[in-house]
Amino acid sequence: MNTHTSLWQKELAQAFTQPSTLLDYLNLDSKMACSQAIKDFAMRVPRAYAECMEKGNINDPLLQQVLPFSQELVTTQGYLKDPVGDLDSLTHSGLIHKYQGRILLITTGGCAINCRFCFRRNFPYSEVQLTKEKEQQALQYLRDNSEIHEVIFSGGDPLLLSNQRIQQLINALSEIPHIQRIRFHTRLPIVLPSRIDAQLISIFSKAALPIVLVTHCNHPNELSPAVKAACLSLKQTNISLLNQSVLLKGINNHVNTLKTLSEQLFACGVLPYYLHVLDKAQGTAHFDIPQQNAIDLHQQLQEQLSGYLVPKLVKEEAGKASKTLLF
Ligand SMILES: *Cc1c(COP(=O)(O)O)cnc(C)c1O
Ligand code: SF4
Repeated sequence: MNTHTSLWQKELAQAFTQPSTLLDYLNLDSKMACSQAIKDFAMRVPRAYAECMEKGNINDPLLQQVLPFSQELVTTQGYLKDPVGDLDSLTHSGLIHKYQGRILLITTGGCAINCRFCFRRNFPYSEVQLTKEKEQQALQYLRDNSEIHEVIFSGGDPLLLSNQRIQQLINALSEIPHIQRIRFHTRLPIVLPSRIDAQLISIFSKAALPIVLVTHCNHPNELSPAVKAACLSLKQTNISLLNQSVLLKGINNHVNTLKTLSEQLFACGVLPYYLHVLDKAQGTAHFDIPQQNAIDLHQQLQEQLSGYLVPKLVKEEAGKASKTLLF
């Protein structure tokens, strides 16, 4: 396979990284962002994602997910650096073995987009991302643990790896007899749909193991025609396509928004999987809603949607054997 810069990599390099440039593009006052907040966590917004925003609207639900605001600097009691206890479960080689039968592999620290609500905003990536050296150790750990049936590529965003690296990892895992499935947790089909290129489609089509791909979409406005086309081309490879969302104040905490999201995901060939309540990471308190509101919203979805379009409402808790279902 070739190593030249792909179209999606060029597009990624052109992402907005300065709040003022993004606000200018949206015809908004460039003083509306907080430049202090990008010192802790950089701004990064692919142009394809910005194109889905409404010009002139500071309350746009996509802009609100990515623009640094001064509320991030507020320290709130109960909001932690590692709210889900991932560092406790981290093995030496970039693997997070927290749940039975499946393991998370931190393939890369980077993301194409920096979501301000992300629980990984404080994560020590340089220590945990999978380097070539750590890869051999990780593969050995997987060979030695026959209870592991599913490997979840996470990050950061695993689709930031080159097609060549993805192919290598799939090949290596396919040689371990007890590994039955590979899962990708990725926001790239949503925020940089050009990533789903012909070569990746070909790799997924020919993979020796079944592949599950879980996208991360929070709002129906994220599902542009290009995103829909990317999802439908993934669907044609016969992989299983699911979505997880995060419940976010001022962005998607309305029953009609969540309903439309489920219906439009389905039209893209994607089934709703999880609706997460916010992980309490320091700097994200302004996105949180009371848990009872989340439960009420979920109940309304249950009443208004086909059963298979209702995502499971879950919470990630440190030290638990699985995500906690909320009712
Ligand atoms: C969410 C998560 C998984 C996957 O859990 P599922 O319920 O199978 O989707 C695995 N490992 C970790 C550390 C997780 O946070
Ligand atoms: S890990 Fe997911 S939620 Fe966090 S910044 Fe990356 S894409 Fe956004």
